[in-house]
Amino acid sequence: MTAEDPQPLAELDPPRLAPERTAFFLDFDGTLADFNEDPSAVFLPERERRSLGQLAEATGGAVAIISGRAIADIDRMLAPLKVPVAGVHGLERRNASGKTVHADVPEAPLAAARTRLQPFARLHPGLLVEEKPGSVALHFRSRPELEPQCLEVARSITDADEGLHVLHGKMVIEFKAGHATKADAVAAFLEEEPFRGRKPFFAGDDSTDEDVFVRMLEMKGISVKVGPGLTAAAYRAGGIDAFRDWLASLARQLNHTERSTAARA
Ligand SMILES: [Mg+2]
Repeated sequence: MTAEDPQPLAELDPPRLAPERTAFFLDFDGTLADFNEDPSAVFLPERERRSLGQLAEATGGAVAIISGRAIADIDRMLAPLKVPVAGVHGLERRNASGKTVHADVPEAPLAAARTRLQPFARLHPGLLVEEKPGSVALHFRSRPELEPQCLEVARSITDADEGLHVLHGKMVIEFKAGHATKADAVAAFLEEEPFRGRKPFFAGDDSTDEDVFVRMLEMKGISVKVGPGLTAAAYRAGGIDAFRDWLASLARQLNHTERSTAARA
């Protein structure tokens, strides 16, 4: 976190984002797609699918989704588009050549967390327990008034097992086995083609994206916080619509530049 307020995204000069020198990393929920009370009902609007496709084309494939969702879930939402993805907050990663790596995670603490969460969710209709590879998440978007009780259950789970890493996102508490983070996933992509040697750009909306914003500062990358809240990001988009409009315009512009450069060559 920084005391300095981020600059408005409109002040980010598109020439700083040359398609052959920039690697784009984007969060999904709250950044590209609107939230829904049922996380499985979330979808990517057509224009945003087009923006991603144009960005991927313009950059030679240097676009990756960095999400808390499982890779399979992101693939389903982006289809027929398929891009590199880091899922479950960095616990799994599929690179540009299609190779997927899963972090080794201990199963026992996850099983214990599930055993504790499922009866709690059954007791409170509207709460949702989501199982992902290496993690289990408790969603309370439909029952925001239950946040204190959810936090209490979370505390009882982590008191019982210190091997779980707790992430508190928007209307969700997630229990992650394994320490890999979104920032680690971005760093791993940057070791590989076609991301290697490029300036990283990352946009995200949640507190779980702050570790990437901090890493962007260290890497002299560009970071964009979507929406309000204290942040370490250098730029801020007022909200998801402002960000998506900006991204659509950038993707069109870069795609056009790339096409005219290719035509001249
Ligand atoms: Mg998000």
